[in-house]
Amino acid sequence: MFETLAHIVADADAKWPLYQERNLNLMEGAPSRFGRIINGRCGPGGSDATPAGATKDVMNMVFLSIGIAIVLIGCATVPGGESQTQKRVYGGLEVEEKSPERKDKVVLSDAEWKRRLKPEQYRILRNKGTEAAFCSPLNDVHKPGVFHCAGCDLPLFATDAKFTSGTGWPSFFQPVERKNVWLKSDFSYGMDRIEVLCSRCDGHLGHLFNDGPRNKTGNRFCINGESLIFREKKPTADES
Ligand SMILES: [Zn+2]
Repeated sequence: MFETLAHIVADADAKWPLYQERNLNLMEGAPSRFGRIINGRCGPGGSDATPAGATKDVMNMVFLSIGIAIVLIGCATVPGGESQTQKRVYGGLEVEEKSPERKDKVVLSDAEWKRRLKPEQYRILRNKGTEAAFCSPLNDVHKPGVFHCAGCDLPLFATDAKFTSGTGWPSFFQPVERKNVWLKSDFSYGMDRIEVLCSRCDGHLGHLFNDGPRNKTGNRFCINGESLIFREKKPTADES
């Protein structure tokens, strides 16, 4: 059984880099070494398309993943017959499968969100959309201030944690407060990524990657500009 597991894992390891190179760079958050590869069209519609030609590979990866999961679940059973549940950690941060509890939760009907948000904000925040790369005006904002959730106004990221990633999406190495974002496993498109959501309104913000600045946290919060509102920090009397 363990020989079979080793073989499956080795096979998956061998295929994964190829898969990543072919498909991941077509998705939100792709490294800049491939240049401007998202369809490059700004405005509504963005870049939500599933990578063309990836379907067969995605299906292969899904079946392979299911096989590995079944074997691993079997191996995780301890002699006493109880399953061990381990919390997932990514980039040094705990991944939460359920929306974090908060006293100030904002819960609205879909119709109400649609009424409150602009169409592109609604598509991204409520339907997990992705804006086209290099289109958000917030890419070029470097003034002191805080980027708030466009859905519920919760402060999410500060300018002093923003860096130029070259990916085309506003990028931050940490949130203003860990509890203000919800990090959730995202297995959509046959990939294993960490989704970043607002912990107050559960709005989709973007994804977390661990290829951020090494001299900071090493994390890259790759965020859709449409999900944010920038509020400039007003100089205090001493600073002005
Ligand atoms: Zn929010």
